[in-house]
Amino acid sequence: MKATIMYAAGDVRVEDVPDPSIVEPTDAIVRVTSACICGSDLWPYADMEPSETGQSMGHEAIGLVEEVGAEVRAVKPGDLVVMPFAYSDGACEFCQEGLQTECVHVGFFGNNGINGAQAEALRIPLADGTLFPLPVGEDHALMPSLLTLSDVMGTGHHAAVVAGVKPGDAVAVVGDGAVGLCGVIAAKRLGAEQIIILGRHQDRTDLAREHGATDVVAERGAEAVARVRELTGGFGVHGVLECVGTAGAIETSLEIARPGGAIGRVGVPHYPAIPLAQPMFYKNIKVGGGPAPVRAYIDELLPDILDGRIEPGRVFDRTVGLDGVPDGYRAMADRESIKVLVKP
Ligand SMILES: [Zn+2]
Repeated sequence: MKATIMYAAGDVRVEDVPDPSIVEPTDAIVRVTSACICGSDLWPYADMEPSETGQSMGHEAIGLVEEVGAEVRAVKPGDLVVMPFAYSDGACEFCQEGLQTECVHVGFFGNNGINGAQAEALRIPLADGTLFPLPVGEDHALMPSLLTLSDVMGTGHHAAVVAGVKPGDAVAVVGDGAVGLCGVIAAKRLGAEQIIILGRHQDRTDLAREHGATDVVAERGAEAVARVRELTGGFGVHGVLECVGTAGAIETSLEIARPGGAIGRVGVPHYPAIPLAQPMFYKNIKVGGGPAPVRAYIDELLPDILDGRIEPGRVFDRTVGLDGVPDGYRAMADRESIKVLVKP
């Protein structure tokens, strides 16, 4: 089968690899019908050291179950399933708390010998705890939105949950990528009254407005901080959804949070330590977040997608086949595309 392998920064290839097969009795094999390229895939695309074996790519997909191991009970061949970006057993105490990304058996697709989802098929470990069967057919019109349950919509929602967003709040979303846009959707869904998006790409901030953003701040650094304070009566916002992961983004987040506010971090941190420890302390600011337990959030978000109340699939602005994946990376890295959908 064909799969996407990254060999170095800027070097993504689609190659023939062995077909996946059942290894453990708890495995399933899924034939991918829709996958996508993630903003987090752009980090290695920018800075990966050359590797002879390469890195298997992709962690978001919807597909058809093709085969299951002897112990799999929750899904069967022919089921259409959404795959969260992490696999989990669904049984340990963290899974039962709804924190599947901290499962004692957690793993992330594309790592530890498990191939990635930008491929024709993949092996799903712990299929019962991981896969979520969808109540629709593979040609359903809402497929792009359903695909976001794999990662970006659940991740934006996690940022909003950790930031404690509640009805009437003033909220800021730092970052205008797909996760930031889903963060806007999540904040509005949870009742935020004012939603300020910090981003510099007008096509993206225009889309954010359509999803419920009330204000756009295109400035950065100190100017962005001043602008957010001005928009919020001088105090800052109750909750910040930090959807970037750079030192500048977390610093801005801490400066625009009002006293007693909270920051939900879902951008993978590319900084060694959280800055501004003293102001954070004296403002009683809470900072939390991490890999989103998107498996837990599907139950809550799926009905809103099926009813058309939220349309996170609008983050996709380009569709390619597997052969178009390398150019899809380039288009996202060049900010030509917000998020690329892959139809293998
Ligand atoms: Zn678990």
